[in-house]
Amino acid sequence: MTNEVNNIKIAYLYEDLMNTYGDSGDIKILDYLFKQKGFTTTVDNISLDDELNAFDYDFLFFGGGQDFEQSVVAVDLQRHKKTLTEYIEADHPMLGICGGYQLLGEYYLTSGGEKIQGLDILPFHTIFKADSRMIGDTKYETKWGTVVAFENHSGRTYFDDKDKLDYFGKMIEGYGNNPDEGHEGMVYKSTIGSYSHGPLLKNLNVANAIVDKILANKKVQA
Ligand code: GLN
Repeated sequence: MTNEVNNIKIAYLYEDLMNTYGDSGDIKILDYLFKQKGFTTTVDNISLDDELNAFDYDFLFFGGGQDFEQSVVAVDLQRHKKTLTEYIEADHPMLGICGGYQLLGEYYLTSGGEKIQGLDILPFHTIFKADSRMIGDTKYETKWGTVVAFENHSGRTYFDDKDKLDYFGKMIEGYGNNPDEGHEGMVYKSTIGSYSHGPLLKNLNVANAIVDKILANKKVQA
């Protein structure tokens, strides 16, 4: 295996373009938790034109972005569809936040009516609604416990295959995926998509679940 046993390799997809409202804090928290356990971490920014073999990494992170950045990233991202699909299907851990979450789905219809093609790995789509941006504090219940965070998005996400995907959480406060369904984010195998900034992983129940999954996968590989 390419991964060293005591080093956790993280790929931060388009770190320079997709990083809204403190999303890089998610990586800092993971780094802190791994150091406490005696691991080192390396974080590679996989940006425009960079190569990616997802299996070189223990964890993939894809942060949020504005519509313009998303439209640029979405084009470049298609080069990685195969490796990302295989990685996700092989049950390796990934976290997508807001714009990064949206791009794992089929498409994102923007305010200007432009259809940004997503990776189409997971069956959901997102539609921009200009009249009601979803901004504010969120609180929801996940299978790992309660999460408190912050959301700021106009995209409304809807699942196209509800049998295949799980919701990440059930809303107590705020909107989550859309104003109609009372659900936050998505879980498929070990991939989580979420609208939560703040960063999300200040919720150590979720952060530790991700850490445990990363370490469990590493053990299998060793
Ligand atoms: N541009 C997207 C939206 O408004 C995502 C925003 C974000 O990632 N913060 O829905």
